[in-house]
Amino acid sequence: MDFSWTEEQLEYKEKVIDFAKSNLDLPVFDNDEGSIFSREAWERCAAFGIQGLSVPKEYGGQFDEVQFLTANLAMESLGYACRDNGLCLGLSAQMWTVQYPISQFCTPKQKEKFLPKLVSGSWVGCHALTEPKAGSDVYNMQTIAEKVDGGYILNGKKHYITFAPIADVILVFANVNPKLGNFGITGFLVEKEMKGVIRGDNQAKMGLRTIPFGDIIFENCFVPDENRMGGEGSGWGITINSLEHDRSNVLAWQVGSMQYQLEQTIQHVKQRKQFGKPIVEFQAVSNRLADMKMRLETSRLLLYKVAWLNERGKSAALESAMLKLLLSESFVESSIDTIRNYGGHGYISQNEIERDMRDAVGTLLLAGTSDIQRNIISDLILDK
Ligand SMILES: Cc1cc2nc3c(=O)[nH]c(=O)nc-3n(C[C@H](O)[C@H](O)[C@H](O)COP(=O)(O)OP(=O)(O)OC[C@H]3O[C@@H](n4cnc5c(N)ncnc54)[C@H](O)[C@@H]3O)c2cc1C
Repeated sequence: MDFSWTEEQLEYKEKVIDFAKSNLDLPVFDNDEGSIFSREAWERCAAFGIQGLSVPKEYGGQFDEVQFLTANLAMESLGYACRDNGLCLGLSAQMWTVQYPISQFCTPKQKEKFLPKLVSGSWVGCHALTEPKAGSDVYNMQTIAEKVDGGYILNGKKHYITFAPIADVILVFANVNPKLGNFGITGFLVEKEMKGVIRGDNQAKMGLRTIPFGDIIFENCFVPDENRMGGEGSGWGITINSLEHDRSNVLAWQVGSMQYQLEQTIQHVKQRKQFGKPIVEFQAVSNRLADMKMRLETSRLLLYKVAWLNERGKSAALESAMLKLLLSESFVESSIDTIRNYGGHGYISQNEIERDMRDAVGTLLLAGTSDIQRNIISDLILDK
């Protein structure tokens, strides 16, 4: 493995940081309190080309082919320079769980219809897999797609869906024949105007409040054949592929957030004095910095390794599960260590330190909980 960056990649990284500092200096405290999504910031990111990092140029993307290392370096930089973790997660979710599967599994006509609108920021897309009775056990989905003349009738409920309340297009998975089990699972691109799509209200949540989130109900929703993704029954394979890419890429921004946390915490502990000296001189405090640095660098290395594997078209089933587990757990731990090192100052919401911890907890759950990542890892290393 060679992770040395090219001049172009390093220049691009700096450009992303400059872009975020000058265009994404958002009122995150207020947006978090009011659960407000900044559509303006979303469009600015699109105009800069962020959403375009996960699709080829032909469909509005940044580069001829998707460059996983560059895309992850860019999202790491965004996480470093933009304090809106919800925005970073929302961008990543659309890029890797909506746009990327469309670019991989849809027909040229479907790609032309959906990708340019998503990449340009005029549309928001969501990925609707989880259901009330099918969370970790996601393939136990109850949503049904009944074949009728010219299309399918969808019935069912998806929940905990990022962007559900505002999505223009919903990539939804339903079963066309439950007797076939996983072999009946099929993907559909449902447009918000289609009759029988009910997008729920934005649900209040602990963190990541700057992105809308909620339920989607399909009530006798007719979806034409032309909106089916791949063949009937191909959805199982599609989700296996897209969940691997989700785990590989969706949390890259957290590496940048952890870098920012560490830099800020170091400044604070050097300035803050107790017992007549800067608190950094207490080993308990500096040990926490060491732990934060360890988490940052191990997460960063694994992120780059997974991107390196993806760039070469190699399987990253094991590595992506390890990455998702390591990154999300590391961000939670480092967010708590940051609060410990700031003391009471870190606990006061107005100081905008505790928010990272609330945002981090959600990432333990999405794209498969930590327990599920451990199951995947142990199954793979035990050849189960
Ligand atoms: C912020 C956020 C954004 C999300 N965005 C989306 C989205 O865009 N699209 C989407 O489809 N879903 C999304 N989800 C849903 C997410 O994928 C699920 O929450 C997750 O898969 C867990 O399912 P569950 O919440 O039903 O928990 P459950 O499956 O009920 O799990 C509860 C507990 O049981 C444990 N558990 C369950 N089964 C096992 C097992 N076999 N072995 C060990 N432990 C187990 C879990 O690890 C967990 O600790 C999002 C969730 C969050 C929090």
